[in-house]
Amino acid sequence: MQIKTILNRVQKFKSFVYKQVRWLGSAEAPELEIDVVERANSRPVCSNCRRPGAGYDRLPRRRFEFVPLWGIKVFLVYAPRRVNCHDCGVRVEFMPWALGKRPLTKAYGWFLASWAKRLSWKEVAVVFRSSWDSVFRSVEMAVEWGRAHQDLSDVQSIGIDEIAWKKGHKYLTLVYQIDTHCKRLLWIGKKRKVKTLLGFFRWFGAERSQKLKYICTDMWKPYLKVIAKKAGHAIHVLDRFHIMVHFGKALNEVRASEVRELNAKGYEAILTKSRWLLLKRPENLTEKQEIKLAELLQYNLKSMRAYLLKEEFQFFWSYISPHWAGQFMDKWCTKTMRSKIEPMKKVAKMLRKHRELLLNWFRAKGRLSSGVVEGFNTRAKLTTRKSFGFRTYHGAEIALYHTLGALPEPKSTHRFC
Ligand SMILES: [Zn+2]
Repeated sequence: MQIKTILNRVQKFKSFVYKQVRWLGSAEAPELEIDVVERANSRPVCSNCRRPGAGYDRLPRRRFEFVPLWGIKVFLVYAPRRVNCHDCGVRVEFMPWALGKRPLTKAYGWFLASWAKRLSWKEVAVVFRSSWDSVFRSVEMAVEWGRAHQDLSDVQSIGIDEIAWKKGHKYLTLVYQIDTHCKRLLWIGKKRKVKTLLGFFRWFGAERSQKLKYICTDMWKPYLKVIAKKAGHAIHVLDRFHIMVHFGKALNEVRASEVRELNAKGYEAILTKSRWLLLKRPENLTEKQEIKLAELLQYNLKSMRAYLLKEEFQFFWSYISPHWAGQFMDKWCTKTMRSKIEPMKKVAKMLRKHRELLLNWFRAKGRLSSGVVEGFNTRAKLTTRKSFGFRTYHGAEIALYHTLGALPEPKSTHRFC
């Protein structure tokens, strides 16, 4: 069997044929070159409007990198014709294997992009003796194609989240679809302002926004404002993950100031190394941590009282009826307001202020999976943290869409990986 025969099995073109195959390069870096020519009597097709036209002239031969074979680099070689297009003027012809002006074939681009979901971009470049830039361009191509071809017709629930990006409070706003039938990253915007989220709704379109049934967010004011304006009909839910993040922050604040206080008074450092102890759920503690927690509870420290208030609040999420959940919350807030622990009082005030949105959690129960936003948040952070090369916003954006977007891929006769 010849290389040409295999090529025709994996990638056949109507108007082009494979010709001669050459062995090039050195023993360490071998290469195969395969000549491509147009079929006899075929007219070149304009790359702009995809209509056939009269041939104009021919450009020098170009090499297009194809999927490697047995560790051998493979190149298609073709001298593109130019078309004298009736509508567009003189243009380079459309080559079905080419990726725009890039020196990669589509097949190779998709191949690299597919590996870039499993390995870091740097690793992909090393393994396939390609460049970081080629991998990036391939992923970019896959994301552009996928975003242009994704189906947005059945989005009922979305979750809005933000992640810190780069040092110093820079944020990205991420919008996820969190339906039980489909979970994916839909949209990314810079910062977390009113303008940011308005950008999402502009992209998503008024008609689709009208079909939204549930929206999950944090209590972040700009988000609340935009959602009330753009999707006021949807049930707006403040989700468990984001609420509990506020508890965690308050607890840290209480602990940190108490440590300072105790140190100033010359007490031994009973609270040091207790940070994770107080943030963990009791069922996740190790035996040693359990003992330390029991010890700490003997002191009537603010940190410990705050910890107990937080643990008590966890019970809130187990309610089924919004009515009883509301009663529980009211009692908890009254108690906390009397606690004299400022950061916790702040949490209570915040909960009171958003009472109705919080109770929406129970109205939407069973239709929203609480873990989804949290899971995405973790994966998004991980993706941006592997950030070599994502110094630009565009790089981070492309990486996030590629890993979390569940984007479609074109159907092809052969899968190279
Ligand atoms: Zn044209």
